[in-house]
Parts: sequence; structure tokens; C-alpha cells
Amino acid sequence: MPDCIVVGGGAIGLLTARQLFLQGMDVLLLERGLLGGESSWAGGGIISPLYPWRYDDCVNLLAERSKKIYPELVKTLFEETGSDCELIDSGLFVVNHENQQDILSWSKKWSIEASYIDDSNAIHQIEKTVGDAVGRGIWLPDIKQIRNPKLIKALKASFDYLSIPYQENAVVEEVIVENNKVSGVRTQQKVLNADKIIIASGAWSAQFSVTQAAVDVLPVKGQMIMYKGEPNLVKRMVLSEGHYIIPRNDGRILAGSTLEKIGFDKSVSTSALDELHQAAVELVPLLEGLPIERQWAGLRPGTKKGIPYICPHDIEGLYIHAGHFRNGIVLGAASAELMADIVLDRKPWCDPVPYALRAQH
Ligand SMILES: Cc1cc2nc3c(=O)[nH]c(=O)nc-3n(C[C@H](O)[C@H](O)[C@H](O)COP(=O)(O)OP(=O)(O)OC[C@H]3O[C@@H](n4cnc5c(N)ncnc54)[C@H](O)[C@@H]3O)c2cc1C
Repeated sequence: MPDCIVVGGGAIGLLTARQLFLQGMDVLLLERGLLGGESSWAGGGIISPLYPWRYDDCVNLLAERSKKIYPELVKTLFEETGSDCELIDSGLFVVNHENQQDILSWSKKWSIEASYIDDSNAIHQIEKTVGDAVGRGIWLPDIKQIRNPKLIKALKASFDYLSIPYQENAVVEEVIVENNKVSGVRTQQKVLNADKIIIASGAWSAQFSVTQAAVDVLPVKGQMIMYKGEPNLVKRMVLSEGHYIIPRNDGRILAGSTLEKIGFDKSVSTSALDELHQAAVELVPLLEGLPIERQWAGLRPGTKKGIPYICPHDIEGLYIHAGHFRNGIVLGAASAELMADIVLDRKPWCDPVPYALRAQH
């Protein structure tokens, strides 16, 4: 019998289970489909919240810690598995019309290099392919991206390398509770017992009878398109009005994303394709001439303020690790450390109160 069962094998479940295993816990991760097949695969992998100055300090705190963790984590995963997650320094140019003072105070507070640029030549020196719509904004040279499908692949390979137990195609149907204490989960196949259960089921985290009332996580669909270009054609990530460009190492260029609150629907639409393409071409006109290779959608685990739950539930032995919304990759590494501290009853590396069950209501 494992000490702890993690329900959900997206980035959050994988990072949490790995962290607990490395701390000596006997874990078992259960994933309904294939590891990382949902939002964690579908995302963009920007290692920063979009417009971080609009978020609560508690989100920025996780982001800043994760930024420090990722280089070492990626190196370790490479040593363990030979899988390269493509953590690269693309920098992020944010086309911006907001109050500069707010942004500069944010950058000072978190010691992040940020400069306001409103000179077209200077902007073209940063990214030569941007169009006239990119007239002014904030340059954040230190923002990295990670190729999230490769992160998932490397994490899965690390599970195999370290022999961390996991099961794919294992649908958890119920969390079993006796006398207000968890005793295990029931999957379609069998009952699995454990004294601790962590719900890391992304957008589906409120599906269980024990989480329905307490966990306010809803699916927020995001659609994305991908162009096929040449390496180094576009070098920087560019963001404007929620639309962004992410150039990958191999020349592929992602353009995202929509924000759609329409339930558990992962269909893609031509209207979204048109919207994303138009916004992308406005930012980087040469995209007009590139083939669109693929379009997809993922369901983000949405919370009201984008603050995740990283906390114990009122039921003894039950924990919630969900609701990372648009930022599950950037927040995930630090969030998993905090979840591990809580589950192992250690002094947490930061104040856990903002991520508690009722903190968001
Ligand atoms: C278009 C788009 C762009 C994004 N861009 C970024 C970005 O640039 N940077 C960033 O940091 N974040 C980004 N995100 C957000 C990020 O992808 C998510 O916050 C993150 O993936 C959430 O991880 P998760 O593990 O909680 O959820 P998921 O990856 O969805 O994993 C949850 C898992 O739980 C499993 N599950 C559900 N129910 C059960 C059950 N009953 N039994 C067993 N397993 C179950 C699911 O199958 C799933 O695999 C983006 C998301 C989208 C959609």
C-alpha cells in the first residue's frame, strides 16, 4: 500500500509525485489517460505569468521560485533521461499601454530586469520581425520558455528511471472516506488504499463528491495554432492583448490563445483559428506566409484570481493541488515543493495561507 496516491498525471501531479518520492515517500500516481495528455501538453510553456504585475504577490512568489528551480530540474532530467526540455532564454516583449509605474514597481519588487521601450529601431533590434503594431512596450529579457510536451516526456522518463510507480488509463471514480478520513480511491478496476490522497486533476479537480463543494476550479478552454517555420526566423516571445507568439528551437512558432468558459469542450473552431492567425500576423507579419501545421485546444484549471489551491482539505489525509489556471507550468515546480512540505508536515518554504481552501472565496 502506498503512503500517498496522486490523482492526475499532468505537470502538477507529476512534479508533486516526483518531489514526494525524492523525499522518501511511497507514492502512486494515477492518470485517467496518458501522462500529461491534457492541459500540460496543450500549453505554451512561458516561464512567467502573462502580465505578472496584474497578479497577486502569492502568484509571483511561486513564479519567481520556479524560475530558479527550472534550470537545475531540467539539467537533472537530462542527466537522468537524456531528454532535453528545451528551456531557452527567449525573452518576452509585452506590447503595453498600462501604467508604467505599476510595472516598474513590480520589476523592482521582484528584481526582474524590465525596460520600457517606445523606439521602433530599438524594438526591431530585439526582434526584427515584429510589425508596426508593436510600437511600445516592456522588454523582459530574462523570461524563459520550456517546451512543455518535452517537459512531460522527460518527467515520464524520470519516473521510469527512478522507478516511481504510476498507472496510465486508471480512472479514479471515487475518493473513499471513512469517519472523515481518506482510506483510498476506487478506480474503474479496483480499490487502492492509502492514508493520503492528493487531487491534482487539473480542470477536473471538482469532479469528486468530496471536492465538489469545496474546490472552485472550472475549465477554461485555450486554443492554439502552430506555424511551421525555419529555426531562428523569429527569436523572441511577443505578447499583446492576451495573444502571443512563442518561437520554438526547431522553427515552429506557436500562436495563442483563446480564453473560453464553455465547459469541458476541447473542440477547435475556425473562428478561433482566424482570431489567432490575425493577431499573430499583426504582431509578426511574416507569419502570413507560413503554413499552419496544427490547431489544438486544452482545458486550463481556472480559478477566480489564478491562485492555485495548495492545501489540505477538511477531510483528514486529503489534499488539493489544482487551479493553476494559465500558469501551471511556471508555477508548478515551486507549487510542488510547497505541496510536498504540507503533505510531509515540514516547515513550508513559504506562507501557505493564500493557497488554502477558503482563501479564495
Ligand atoms: C492554450 C494554453 C496555453 C497555456 N500556456 C501556458 C504557459 O505559457 N505557461 C504556463 O505556465 N501555463 C500555461 N498554460 C496552463 C497550464 O498548461 C496549466 O495550468 C497546467 O497544465 C495545469 O496542470 P495540471 O496538471 O493541473 O492539469 P492537467 O495537465 O490538465 O492534468 C490533469 C490530469 O488529471 C487527469 N485526471 C482528471 N480526472 C482524473 C481522474 N478521475 N482519474 C485520474 N486522472 C484524472 C487528466 O486526465 C489530466 O491528465 C496553458 C494552458 C493552455 C490550455
